[in-house]
Amino acid sequence: MNLTEIPVKQVNGVSALKAGELHAFGISTVNDLIEYYPYRYEDYRLRSLVEVKDGDKITVQAKIMGVPVLQRYGGKSRLSCKMVAEDWMFTATWFNRHFLRDQLTAGREIILTGKWDQRRSQLTVSESEFPDKGTVRSGSLQPVYSVGGNITQAWMRKSIGQALLQYGEMIPEILPQELLDEYKLMARKRAIQRIHQPQDNEEGQSARRRMVYEELFLFQLKLQAYRAMNYERMDGVCHEFENSTIREFVRSLPFELTDAQKKVELEILQDMRSSFCMNRLLQGDVGSGKTVIAAIALFAAVKSGHQGAFMVPTEILAEQHVRSLSKLFEPFGISVGLLTGSVTGRRRKDLLGSLQMGLTDIVVGTHALIQEDVFFRSLSMVVTDEQHRFGVNQRSILRRKGFNPDVLTMTATPIPRTLAITAFGDMDVSTLSERPKGRKPISTYWVKQDMMDRVLGFISREVSQGRQTYLICPLIEESDKLDVQNAIDLYVMMGQAFPDFKVGLLHGRMTSAEKEEVMRGFYDNEVQLLVSTTVVEVGVDVPNATLMIIMDADRFGLSQLHQLRGRVGRGEHESYCVLIADPKSEVGRERMKVMTESDDGFEVARRDLELRGPGDFFGTKQSGVPEFRIADMVSDFAVLETARDDAARLVREPSFWTSPQYGPLRSFLKREQILQGELID
Ligand code: ADP
Ligand code: MG
Repeated sequence: MNLTEIPVKQVNGVSALKAGELHAFGISTVNDLIEYYPYRYEDYRLRSLVEVKDGDKITVQAKIMGVPVLQRYGGKSRLSCKMVAEDWMFTATWFNRHFLRDQLTAGREIILTGKWDQRRSQLTVSESEFPDKGTVRSGSLQPVYSVGGNITQAWMRKSIGQALLQYGEMIPEILPQELLDEYKLMARKRAIQRIHQPQDNEEGQSARRRMVYEELFLFQLKLQAYRAMNYERMDGVCHEFENSTIREFVRSLPFELTDAQKKVELEILQDMRSSFCMNRLLQGDVGSGKTVIAAIALFAAVKSGHQGAFMVPTEILAEQHVRSLSKLFEPFGISVGLLTGSVTGRRRKDLLGSLQMGLTDIVVGTHALIQEDVFFRSLSMVVTDEQHRFGVNQRSILRRKGFNPDVLTMTATPIPRTLAITAFGDMDVSTLSERPKGRKPISTYWVKQDMMDRVLGFISREVSQGRQTYLICPLIEESDKLDVQNAIDLYVMMGQAFPDFKVGLLHGRMTSAEKEEVMRGFYDNEVQLLVSTTVVEVGVDVPNATLMIIMDADRFGLSQLHQLRGRVGRGEHESYCVLIADPKSEVGRERMKVMTESDDGFEVARRDLELRGPGDFFGTKQSGVPEFRIADMVSDFAVLETARDDAARLVREPSFWTSPQYGPLRSFLKREQILQGELID
């Protein structure tokens, strides 16, 4: 019988009640219990007082010498007793363990664990055991589990120990022998036993190494198998376009592509030509020029006789893209439609009809694109922008509106390679590693609130030279809970401070029409100073804007700050970002420093990851960043890469799908519902 199918209450000592409590720890089967790994070990190995240092936590075996002395004060008590260990006399002291007094009889052996005070020759005891009653902990490394509620450390140790006694022999191997040999990994049965009960640190470490590899390998196997079955099918659209047509389009652009853009363009066009279903993540720092890459892919789809869809997270962005794509495509007779929540009635009906008949070549839109009544004549290219805002499901619904279309997913949140390879292991990744030539770095300053006067002077200087400025606030309107700058007050203040400039206000509670009106004003430089909440964060492109001021900057995440900063420095003019903040914490100040030290999104993301840890990095569950039982995405990254290569190689071997030696891995994929093709997409 499979351990994943045996309920945990079959373990002796685990009552139905306790089994219920274990649910909270994600433990319901015997397998869950034995795979509940310790996060560290407590060292109860016996030490000699000769070698210990002041302040060490130690375990020693000693003999009781004198008569115990009990002092009580208030509800508290202090029990002390003379001991001898290898000719060393010392005092053992317990706090609030008065009931032990009667057991401390002279001459009896005792094992004590506690903190050693060298000067006083005193041990403050936290745990003690009597060898004549049988010892549990002493002399070994003891696992420390994450526990809580009614589940105590001692109970968890005992129950896992019991589970291993009853079922340890049934633990099956799952990794193929070739991988065990290649990396000299412990057998699974032994590794699981030893990870809970290691003889020494070394053994604990090699048991851990085996389980980390296994966990990461199985994780990658899921992604790679899924990918092999869903995207490597050779029944995708073979786009047929002339190279010369693409060249002609690229020549019509107002700039020359960067080397990075050329490389990515080639990768995408190659995928599009082949019958392979493209599933590619395009990541590039803000301002690296991702949109034009999307445009080339959409252009190639249309020139092959098909249609393209471009899904973005906000209406402002959808409108911006429609505007810029229309301009680029007009000379080539390609039509671009807009579909957002604000497109309704007659306009919507016309657009849907035209999409279905193939009269509209490209549609740009928000979530509105994935509504049920949206049909295409022949959708072959799906682009989504700003990846982390869309769930995998939303992308796949859009994908299903065509017949195996190619999919390009763009993200401006640079993901450290560490995370990209885990969260998006089922995709190919293209990276725009450079920004267009001639871009000057954005100078970033961090100032305190009391410098506001100088900041106003700065604004005045930039705007007088014909440039534009963003002013970002964390809040729309005044709040009595938070003492931070709000957009509405700031808008009023700016209007008074700069009577000669036009000040605009933008926030999420305005209607789409109002937002569009303000944005259009800003695009056309009718508005010079835009006071806004983070609605402008994603993708907005106004190259004439050169100054980004962020109020209460410590209230934003680092990647968000970097996104906001990326709204400037998009043209030929020198650009600046000013962070106004008085962070209270050290980490808060560190984060502001990171921003002033680097304007490379990958570097910022890396530092962010360091400061926050991977769990918090994306902030949302839909990021798809998995939680591992034992592996650590950052420190075990090298293993992750190896595991990924191994998994990718294995699923491409025909024998993987048939040979008995891979049976356990195939069963795993079935249990995880990959083999039925029912995973995420
Ligand atoms: P992002 O990657 O942040 O989406 P965009 O695609 O919005 O960046 O591009 C930022 C700006 O740079 C746009 O104004 C775009 O027209 C311009 N741009 C893109 N590629 C180049 C290039 N190769 N040379 C010069 N400017 C470019
Ligand atoms: Mg963009």
